[in-house]
Amino acid sequence: MSSSVIDFIATEARFGARNYEPIGVVLSRGEGVWVWDTEGNRYLDCLSAYSAVSQGHCHPKILAAMVEQAHRLTLTSRAFHNDQLALFYEEIAALTGSHKVLPMNSGAEAVESAIKSVRKWGYEVKGVPDGQAEIIVCANNFHGRTLGVVGFSTDPETRGHFGPFAPGFKVIPFGDAPALAGAITPNTVAFLVEPIQGEAGVVIPPAGYFTEVRELCTANNVMLVLDEIQTGLGRTGKLLAEQHEGIEADVTLLGKALSGGFYPVSAVLSNNDVLGTLRPGQHGSTFGGNPLACAVARAAMRVLVEEGMIENAARQGARFLEGLKDIRANTIREVRGRGLMLAVELHPEAGRARRYCEALQAKGILAKDTHEHTIRIAPPLVITSDQVDWALERFAAILTQDFS
Ligand SMILES: *Cc1c(COP(=O)(O)O)cnc(C)c1O
Repeated sequence: MSSSVIDFIATEARFGARNYEPIGVVLSRGEGVWVWDTEGNRYLDCLSAYSAVSQGHCHPKILAAMVEQAHRLTLTSRAFHNDQLALFYEEIAALTGSHKVLPMNSGAEAVESAIKSVRKWGYEVKGVPDGQAEIIVCANNFHGRTLGVVGFSTDPETRGHFGPFAPGFKVIPFGDAPALAGAITPNTVAFLVEPIQGEAGVVIPPAGYFTEVRELCTANNVMLVLDEIQTGLGRTGKLLAEQHEGIEADVTLLGKALSGGFYPVSAVLSNNDVLGTLRPGQHGSTFGGNPLACAVARAAMRVLVEEGMIENAARQGARFLEGLKDIRANTIREVRGRGLMLAVELHPEAGRARRYCEALQAKGILAKDTHEHTIRIAPPLVITSDQVDWALERFAAILTQDFS
């Protein structure tokens, strides 16, 4: 390591709150699936900023839209109209088949906004007595880091010493439709769930789960809120992960890849009157729906479709999954994934996943461990067959070693 690399890392550690434990690489440039560190070493990015850079690093068309818009107008606040918001609404509604859109910035803000909206819908439309609204969530969920959201996390690390928390949430197991049926009461306004639990280690529910969930929600007048912040926009090989089961959520949350990694842009989408309950002054955000965000998101959505990235995610995801399954290694407990949202779960005796990620780094691959024993793999959706094969060779070389 050169002294400059040590300086960046040491200076971060000295001044920064230590709420992250990054792999020891300092990145300074990115293009497509590749990133380069300050010493000029090249890596295949198999994290894509937790799926925010699905369109590939520094996509030229998103970059051009951002620069062009930054020259014209960046922020007006919602006190005035701007000439990008309507176009963003029109295009995201056309893409996703939604009727109403609420633009926000971070993913957690979209989740918070959805919680506020479904509660309001519960009181004003469903007729739940004031203050009694219940929202059902799943064990091992990840919906962000704000106080409201960590309050219904089941991870002690995520919640610990951050309370007291807001009431009104009920936790059930993920992938268990009878548990949902048992948890619904007349005061239940929504079921908030990830189509695939990403942070929990790419946990895919049993086939038919969401069909049952959809039926239960409809039968009980409960809003199905799908957090597609990570699974959405092509990551799983379909535009939205809900399409794998042919269902439609009442409320869909998007973020991350909505800006292709250029800028925080999130959105709450609804195909009913949930967002319709919000009146002027009841919710907002200084930066939400700003012209720069809208121009960037419009370009990010456009290239996703125009350049066939969703179909590519399905194709390359299948290739990657097959290749991982073909690796014969005692270290591997399970390989799973859908589209380009993949994970290798190691046997506990094989040692910590972080050691494998560090070994992958030395071979030119950046991947991230999650929950001690799982390596998560989520490259940009522009990855080619040759690049998948290149990655697989390296995964095979590392996974057949023992780092216990
Ligand atoms: C990343 C993520 C969030 C939070 O998004 P932020 O932009 O980090 O606030 C919420 N839900 C899911 C499923 C996520 O993956």
